Amino acid sequence: MSRARQARTPASTTEPGFENRNRQQVVRPTGLRGTDHNARVYEIVCRDCGYRYGANGTDIHDRKCPKCQGGKPGLPTEPRLESSPIEPWTVADAKARFSEVLEKARTEGPQVITRNGKKAAVVVGIDEWEKKTKRQGTLAEFLHNSPWRGADIDLERSPEKMREIEF
Ligand SMILES: [Zn+2]
Repeated sequence: MSRARQARTPASTTEPGFENRNRQQVVRPTGLRGTDHNARVYEIVCRDCGYRYGANGTDIHDRKCPKCQGGKPGLPTEPRLESSPIEPWTVADAKARFSEVLEKARTEGPQVITRNGKKAAVVVGIDEWEKKTKRQGTLAEFLHNSPWRGADIDLERSPEKMREIEF
């Protein structure tokens, strides 16, 4: 039995089905970039407790389960929400990861926050804000000239409302 099993063991430590000596088995490649140089993230399942987590392809041979074997924490196995700079934040996400919102506002451009599925606010880096206020443009012009241009922000469909507000 063990011989037959060994014969089926994939040769590569990144091949789905590969199981290391700690009984951590490769489920699938996630296609995500890992934290090691040139590494990719693979989804791993612990054969002891069933916990699923992400691991660098370079780590798999001696990975220990983060849950039941004291291994280091797993990596995300799904693309993170903020991988796209124009992905809006929900209030809950923005609250939980506010420093990330700020950092992205500074490095990637305005971050939109949605409440109940509707856009509620924009977080803008101070550099961009100051540039905007020096130019004396309207917020609408500012957003049109920002990296947000072309994003699904829909300022044009309500010109009356924009005028009523009078920036
Ligand atoms: Zn486990």
